[in-house]
Amino acid sequence: MSCGCSSRLKDGKAVVDHVKSKGKDSQAPLVAHEIHCDCGETFTLETVIMNCPSCGMTYAVTPCGSDDINNIKQAGIQYA
Ligand SMILES: [Zn+2]
Repeated sequence: MSCGCSSRLKDGKAVVDHVKSKGKDSQAPLVAHEIHCDCGETFTLETVIMNCPSCGMTYAVTPCGSDDINNIKQAGIQYA
């Protein structure tokens, strides 16, 4: 893929860094997945990088991988 998102990113922090470097961190994902956070909060992923509204855990996915919930990774509390 031309955007480079298909390359394997080893963890959530790498995904955040990659997506931010492309300036796509406020882009909407292909599917608005429902996230069940470790803290017990459930929220809808509205942008490809988003923090849990309760605990602040950062969730990240590349725009082209965002149709698959398995591609969504945790990057750490308020990493974004
Ligand atoms: Zn949370």
